[in-house]
Amino acid sequence: MTEPIDELVLDGNAVAGALSEIYGDDMTTVLAECASCGNTDYIGELLAFVQAPGIVLRCTACTTVVLRIVQHPRGARVDVQGKRIPPPPKT
Ligand SMILES: [Zn+2]
Repeated sequence: MTEPIDELVLDGNAVAGALSEIYGDDMTTVLAECASCGNTDYIGELLAFVQAPGIVLRCTACTTVVLRIVQHPRGARVDVQGKRIPPPPKT
């Protein structure tokens, strides 16, 4: 049985811990501008999909991917596609 899509969507606050581990700070209050439509949201307000292999944060206006996080044994890979989001610090 499949779950309705709405039940799989969280907000960016749900991934605050994962973001904090990568950036070393609370990222939920950082503004993210969608590279596709220009909509601006706090990262904590973005649409969060955590049921996939990794975490995907999408724009609330057009659902374009703004940020992707994939964890692997050697650390996290962060793909920042939105504007205004700083790249993760080098480790
Ligand atoms: Zn957008």
